This record gives sequence, C-alpha cells and structure tokens, in this order.
Amino acid sequence: MDSPLISLERVKRYFGSGDTEVRALDGVTLDIHTGEFVAIIGQSGSGKSTLMNILGCLDRPTDGTYRVRGQDVADLDADELAGMRRETFGFIFQRYNLLASVSASENVEIPAVYAGLSHAERQEKADTLLSRLGLGDRLDHKPNQLSGGQQQRVAVARALINDAEVILADEPTGALDSGSSDELLGLLEELHEAGRTIILITHDPKVAERAKRVIELKDGRVVSDIGSADIVTPAADSYRHTGKGPSPVSQVVESVKMAFRSLRANLFRTALTLLGVVIGVAAVVAMLAIGQGSQRQVMARFESMGSNLLFVRPGAPGTRMRGDAIATLTLADADALNELDNVRAAVPSRTGSATLRVGNNDYSTSIEGVSAGWPIAQNRGMLYGSFFTEEDVDRRIGVVVLGTTSAGNLFDNVQDAVGQYIFLGGAPFEVAGVLEEKGASSWGQDQDDVALVPITTGMMRLFGQNYLSSITIAVDDTDRISETETEATALLLARHGTEDFQLRNTASILESVQQTQNSFSILLGSVASISLLVGGIGVMNIMLVSVSERTREIGVRMATGARRSDIMSQFLIESLVVGGLGGVAGVLIGFGVCFLLGANGMPIAVTLTPAALAFTSAMVTGLVFGLLPARKAAHLDPVTALASE
Ligand code: ADP
Ligand code: MG
Repeated sequence: MDSPLISLERVKRYFGSGDTEVRALDGVTLDIHTGEFVAIIGQSGSGKSTLMNILGCLDRPTDGTYRVRGQDVADLDADELAGMRRETFGFIFQRYNLLASVSASENVEIPAVYAGLSHAERQEKADTLLSRLGLGDRLDHKPNQLSGGQQQRVAVARALINDAEVILADEPTGALDSGSSDELLGLLEELHEAGRTIILITHDPKVAERAKRVIELKDGRVVSDIGSADIVTPAADSYRHTGKGPSPVSQVVESVKMAFRSLRANLFRTALTLLGVVIGVAAVVAMLAIGQGSQRQVMARFESMGSNLLFVRPGAPGTRMRGDAIATLTLADADALNELDNVRAAVPSRTGSATLRVGNNDYSTSIEGVSAGWPIAQNRGMLYGSFFTEEDVDRRIGVVVLGTTSAGNLFDNVQDAVGQYIFLGGAPFEVAGVLEEKGASSWGQDQDDVALVPITTGMMRLFGQNYLSSITIAVDDTDRISETETEATALLLARHGTEDFQLRNTASILESVQQTQNSFSILLGSVASISLLVGGIGVMNIMLVSVSERTREIGVRMATGARRSDIMSQFLIESLVVGGLGGVAGVLIGFGVCFLLGANGMPIAVTLTPAALAFTSAMVTGLVFGLLPARKAAHLDPVTALASE
C-alpha cells in the first residue's frame, strides 16, 4: 500500500492548563489513505470536532505529529496552512455556515475566490456544481430562502469547488430531517465513488454505517478502528492544484465587491457611518473655500487702493495707542513731504465727528480735514461740483465736500446740494461738491458716508487739535516707491529728531493682512479637520462592530482557505470604501454649500486643492482607522471564529 494521505502520530490536543486542563485528544494515531470513506464516531465530548479541526488544519496539535502527504503540518506557517485548507480540504459543517448576505452561488464561489479563479470560471463552476446537486433553480436564492437540506447541499458544493481531495464533514446530518439526511449521505457516497476521500464525523451509528471504515473515539483516544480500507482510486487527473493564490488585482477587485455587498447589507448603518466622514469632508471643503474667498476679497480691495501710496501715522513703531491721540505729526511735516522728489501729493488728514445740519435735518458722520491734494492721492473724482482748492485751504474757508451717502441723508436731491449751506459744529459751510461713489472699504466702512473739509478750517473750527491723524503720500513713479519711502523716513527723522512716526507702504500692509487671513484659513481648516477626525473614529467604531458581528463569516472564510492577508485586505478595503464614498459625497456636498453661500453673496473661492486634500484625507482616515479592526479580524483564530454565534 502506498504512503498515507493523512497520518497522525500520538496527536494530543489539550485545552487550558492545571486543574481545568481538558484532554480533548489524548494520543491519537491513525492513517487515512487517498480514496477512503471513514466515519469517526463517538459520544458528544469525545474529541471528534477537535480531531476534525486538526485534520482540516484549522487547529494545531499540542503534541504529536500530523502529516498531510508526508508534510509535517507543524512546519507550515499561517498562510501555508490556509493554502492547505484551500487546496486539500473541503468542509461541511453541521450548521451549514453559509454567508447569509450572499446568494447560493456566491457562497459556493468563496473558496474559489481565494484560490484565484477568475470571476467567469468561478461562476461557471459554482453553477454547474449546484445544478448537479439539484439546485439549478436556486442559484440566486439567499440561504434563508432555502431549506436545511438545500443549504447543506450548497455547503457541499462549496466544499467541492476547489476540487478538494478530502471532504471533512462534521455532523453534516445533525440538523437535517431523515429524508435530507439520506440524500446527503447518498451524495457523500457518490463523491467517494468518484474518488474523493471522505471523513465523516458523527455521533449516530446509523449514519456511520454508510462508511467503509469506522473509527471510534472515547475521551480523546481511538477505542476501535473497524472495516476495510475500501479504496477507490481516483482518476489520474482529478486533482490538479493550482498552487497559486489569487492575483493581487483580482483580490482587490473581489474585496471591493465584497465590501460593497456587506455595506449594502447594512445600509442604514453604512449611511450613518458615512455621515461622519461626509460632514467632515464637506466642512473642510466649505471652510477652506470661505477662508480663501474672504482672503481674496480683502486682497482685491487692498490692491484696488493703489500700489502708489505710503502711509505715515503718528507714534513710534509698535505703539498701540490710536493715531488720533498721539501728537507728533504736523501740517508742516506734510508740507515738507510735499516738496520731496517723486511725491505727487502728501495729504494731511485729521478726523473727528460732528453733526451736520440742514434746516431741521440732523446727520452725524465722520468729518475729515484734508488738503486739496486728496482727490489725487485717493484717485477719486467728483459727481457734482468740485473739490476745494489749495487757496480754500490756505484761507481756511468754510467749505465741505460730501459723499453720496451723507449728501443723500441731508438733501432730498443730491444734485441740488452744491452751493447750499450746511451747519457743521455751529458754523455754516458751503457744499463745494459731491464725490463720486466708491462703496465699502476693506474694513467694510461706507466710503461715501464722509464729509471732507479743508484741514486748516477743521483744525480751527471743529477738531480743537493741531496735530494730524495721518499723512497719505501718493508717488509719481511706483518703481521708485521704496526710494521715496527711505527719503520720507529720513526727512521726518531729521524734522522730529526721533522716530515718533510709522511709515508703511501698501505692500507691507498687504503682507500683514495676508498673515491674518492665513491664520483665519488655518483656523477654519483645523476646525474642519477635527470633524473629519471624529468621522474617522466613527468609521473605526463601526468597523470594530462589524468585525465582531461577522466573526463567524471570518471563520468560514478562513476555513475555506482565506489567508490572513485576504481577511485583512477585505476589512481594510471595506473601510477604504466607506472613506472613499464619504469623501466623494462630502466633496459634492461641500461644493453645494459653497454654491449656495456664493449665490447668497458670500465671498467664496472654490478650488480643487482643498477638495482633493479632503478626499485624500477621507481615504487616509478610512485606511488608518480601518487598520485596527482589520488586524483584529485577520488575527482571529479560525476555530474560535467558526464556533462563535
Ligand atoms: P465532540 O465534537 O466529540 O462532541 P469536541 O471535540 O468538541 O467533542 O470536544 C472535546 C472536549 O474538548 C470536550 O470536553 C470539550 O469541552 C473540550 N473542548 C473543545 N474545544 C475546547 C476549547 N476551545 N476550550 C476548552 N475545551 C474545549
Ligand atoms: Mg462536535
């Protein structure tokens, strides 16, 4: 007789230790040859299932040697054991152990997925097997739409799809009525006739009668081994083992499909999990668009101010006090600056507030005393009338130039304002003109709500102050602006003897505004990222729940040949799919929010970078937070997983 297919030598399997030690197998020695039909019988608790787990490479002996085709199983690592299960053994369980969420034919295909068969091959094989077992019209039925006998036949088909040499059946008839039971035993006999090695585990002597050889276990030991080794020689090319696992690509494709399937099976829960990620991603997209939008708006307004301006403020650099309260800049300073080369106009300014009155009509607004160069420096034209002249300034004439807002508040008809008198601080001022409209400033201030008077007049009659709030310098040649800035600084230093003023240009102001805006964007971005993080923790939570709920499924997959990496990648891909779906939905919703806000006049800058960033973060979130659950799933012990409810 040739060498045995399966050989056990003093195999022991103990559970626990010390007082609670259970000797489930206590030195089992036996050989099984290819083509045998063996029944292993014994009372409940005699060690049958433990033996079957060891035979099927789901478990390892505590002691002793187990060889398959001469190969010592102790020398195989976890993946090689998975390979052994995939190629050599087909399992049939008492409780069928079908996956509830997939159809009969998809259940049958599972071992073939791990063996690397293509989708078409798998499907064809599964359908052929099921048809041969009389389930041709039940291919797309879910397990709960099938009777017990039908479910067990699906399990038989699953055990056969990889052309397993050995069928391991643990109490396969235990849950079946006598009719279905007979049918199944007939099926096993047929398989034996066709050359397969059958190992049938049962506590029922009647069932065992169908086998050619009966081995009886008691308290983990073989107490009898009766019967001939009626060996059916298999056809020469019956069992061809591919030896290769699934290719990485088809593995990923399969995992993605499985991920979608199991996500669909728990639609409501999936939606809730997605929600966290969706909100996170949408928040990132919308927040960054808002931040960038407001930044762009502010920058645009600053740029419209003109790049030809220099600003002088009273007070040493770093002084926090309001400019108006510091008395260092004088009209004479402005005159001196006006004499510098490249200076088009150096416009002194003093602000105050007063009540304007026409008849019984009162209106409070800010009054600004400026020089005649103001329209040049501000690049501002007139709507009606004209600006006051240098002569008006020199002679401290009582004239006023209004913006459209203030004029509109004082006069029924803005164009009639020119030439009329208004009372300002009790003195009459003639309206010289109305400025063209400008709208809101970068600070949101209405630049048409102004009243301009000659600075000299203002100092004498309105402000009670002879110092300036600021001087604005407009240069002729923008290229030489820094040169002019240096000269102006030197001039003021010489005049004051100390640096009791600050000189800034538009670019430096722009820079500091940009900094503020950037930190604003960062703030918004981090708030949004936190919500993404929270979403990620939600994903992890659900994936962990999913792993515990599907422990048996994981056990079934392992028994049918899935390697740890297969299980790991399945769960990782599942959480990646959650991350990816959440990312896509989040980006779309984020864009939607941006569109709505934009339509309502909010400054929004939608760019692809934050969207891509948020989507990537969602995927990374799925990956990172899926890692722990996936590891947990992959490291489950097949026997324990199978035994779980
Ligand atoms: P059978 O299938 O013949 O009914 P088992 O092989 O399932 O018996 O169990 C044999 C003995 O080993 C029993 O006493 C059982 O309680 C014990 N046993 C099985 N699995 C475990 C385990 N994982 N931990 C502890 N004891 C176990
Ligand atoms: Mg058992």
